[in-house]
Amino acid sequence: MDADIIVIGASPAGVMAARNASSKGSKVILLDKKEAAGVPTHPANTFFKGMFDRTGEEVDQSYVIKNLKGAYIITPSGKNVMFEGEAYFLDRKKFDEFYIKQVYENGVDVRFGVEVLNVLRTDGGFIVSTSKGKIKCKLVIVSDGINSRVAALLGMKPIKHTQDIAWSLEAEIEAEGIGEPDYFEYYVGNHAPGWKSTYSPCGGNRATLGMYARRHGKDVSDFFDAWLEKFKSLKGLDEVKIISKSIGGDPIVAIPGDMVADGVMVTGGSAAQSGIGYGMHAGQMCGDVAADAIAKGDTSKSFLQGYRRRWNDVYRTEYYLGRFALETLRKMKDREIDDMMKVFEGEDLTVLSGSPFNQAVQISKMILKNNPSSILSYRAVFRKK
Ligand SMILES: Cc1cc2nc3c(=O)[nH]c(=O)nc-3n(C[C@H](O)[C@H](O)[C@H](O)COP(=O)(O)OP(=O)(O)OC[C@H]3O[C@@H](n4cnc5c(N)ncnc54)[C@H](O)[C@@H]3O)c2cc1C
Repeated sequence: MDADIIVIGASPAGVMAARNASSKGSKVILLDKKEAAGVPTHPANTFFKGMFDRTGEEVDQSYVIKNLKGAYIITPSGKNVMFEGEAYFLDRKKFDEFYIKQVYENGVDVRFGVEVLNVLRTDGGFIVSTSKGKIKCKLVIVSDGINSRVAALLGMKPIKHTQDIAWSLEAEIEAEGIGEPDYFEYYVGNHAPGWKSTYSPCGGNRATLGMYARRHGKDVSDFFDAWLEKFKSLKGLDEVKIISKSIGGDPIVAIPGDMVADGVMVTGGSAAQSGIGYGMHAGQMCGDVAADAIAKGDTSKSFLQGYRRRWNDVYRTEYYLGRFALETLRKMKDREIDDMMKVFEGEDLTVLSGSPFNQAVQISKMILKNNPSSILSYRAVFRKK
């Protein structure tokens, strides 16, 4: 064997899986077809402290471009609800470099510029065939991103609702003072079906604008163009310079499917574990269980289910509640979204605490107190659409 574990894909989850498995004593090789960490740069470049804290990692200011104070959620008619909370606009390349350094320091054999072409099962392990030759290992961690080719080659379906991936276009933009505000702005409504359009200031004259839509195909450029025009008119801007555009898929409500098979674990976007922080936390769980499996000499599916159980304990309810919320949103008319959001206007949402279920109960109480009839707008979830 060349390694105990091969991690395929230096995604935030893959990097954490490699680091944790190696720090628990496994011999790990991390492969990525990218030229280097952060090259090319992934468009995911913001997160909230509350979400990142789940990883147990400290945010390091060396990779933060701008510290923000929270986000506004803005309804079709322009009503808004403010969420206070520390948030960050990242220099994603520096972020990736920061964590890959930890992986090197933990003794992982990191190989960029290596594409995995196939993974074959053998007695007691796998032969991973790559653009630079074959490598043998006992266990494979798949973290090659959304639409995982490697998981498909291994006969796994790690995302349950692939039709619900939010396809996205994010553009870096430039205009006078556009980067100055201290809050993200997320716009919901039928202009961004099933999810949101975004405005993320990153200081000075720079910001990003994003469009995330579900069930309208992978090409969301028409939605993005309309959002750009709407944004210009909202902000009174004649001209906005587009610096660059990125496209991709965000499995925000797609729900993990097969996370493990004999000798195989899937983590990060490949298993619908969306979000940088949540992906990293899932990667840590994955790496810990993988190392335990190697130490025990048991890489069976049944042993590896320990990863699924850990993930379920922390995130399953949250992901299903999130799916319910965004499915309702997708089916609502703009008027119903406005009605629903009225309940939260002027409320301090930072008081929401406890488990996702408890938070849902607290929200229900707010609805009953502020506008009980708005509960009717939630009927939308039963619509066929
Ligand atoms: C436009 C956009 C913006 C987003 N913005 C945010 C945001 O601001 N904050 C946030 O939390 N989330 C954001 N997300 C969600 C985010 O993408 C994911 O949660 C996170 O980046 C997940 O990464 P991943 O696990 O999908 O893998 P990726 O980061 O895509 O990594 C997969 C890696 O696998 C490598 N790879 C693939 N195939 C192979 C192969 N065959 N051989 C070797 N290597 C391979 C790739 O090179 C890549 O490095 C955004 C998503 C999109 C599409």
